[in-house]
Amino acid sequence: MSNRWIEVAPRVWVRRLEELDQTLGLVIGDDSCLVIDTGINAEAGYEFATAIREKTDLPWQVVYTHDHFDHWFGTSAFGESAIWAVADGAHYVGFGDEQRKAWAARYRRDGREEDARRIARTKLVPPNCRVNGAVGLNLGGRTVVLRQVGLAHSDNDLVIEVPDAGVLFAGDLLENGAPPSYDGAFPYEWPQAVEYLLSWKPQVVVPGHGDPADYWWARAQARDLAEMARLCSEVAQGFLTEAEALAHNPFGEATMKSALKRCKELTPPPPEPAPQASAPASAATLPQPVIVYDIFDYNVDLTGR
Ligand SMILES: [Zn+2]
Repeated sequence: MSNRWIEVAPRVWVRRLEELDQTLGLVIGDDSCLVIDTGINAEAGYEFATAIREKTDLPWQVVYTHDHFDHWFGTSAFGESAIWAVADGAHYVGFGDEQRKAWAARYRRDGREEDARRIARTKLVPPNCRVNGAVGLNLGGRTVVLRQVGLAHSDNDLVIEVPDAGVLFAGDLLENGAPPSYDGAFPYEWPQAVEYLLSWKPQVVVPGHGDPADYWWARAQARDLAEMARLCSEVAQGFLTEAEALAHNPFGEATMKSALKRCKELTPPPPEPAPQASAPASAATLPQPVIVYDIFDYNVDLTGR
């Protein structure tokens, strides 16, 4: 399979990439267009930008669904433009640099020298417009909504709604053809976030990886995410063993393992035991003892009988 376009609704395009089975988006209005994520490196971004120019010559704005490298390392190919995201630019530069180093090392370990070099020389392009809550972008003749999600696949997820076309770009909140990724995720909050986002019943739901699908597919995945949250919570409380959860879950052993690991990371450590009283304090600083028997004033006459 090579990279290809799918038109999921009038002037709403999905770009399916071979690499990471990734899914990018393009929404075209009368005056401008919106580019949803930009790919894993400058070369991927350039290929995407060129493909977009075959569809439209309107000016573009870019939106990042979240801060994972494969969704925004291609932006240098897009030149100056408005770039929308939930997290701020400083976060993107800092976390981007971490990911750039980690993935270059990982590709090198896997013997993928060319990919390592490509990612290592990625120029990070931080967002310059923040989405706090929801933003409606008028592209001319159609308005898209950029919506902050809260805690789910990451702490800075954003989805794009195209209400006139019934399309929801869900980022990595949903994945088709591969299990969702729990690294850096919030397993307990994630399912509820998806339920909320599906409440307007979009007809087409576009995942961050894999083919676009319909509302009912998304509902099924939301149910599986809820089952994962339930298993995590039962393991945390001792009602289930880890082995039982690993053997019986919707997404397979590796995904369950990373969900359980993530829940442990998110659980605050138990409180420190209170320090033992050491040297006895002097009588002057000791609190006055409370004499409890003082309150029992029965006035019983013990001599009369
Ligand atoms: Zn992701």
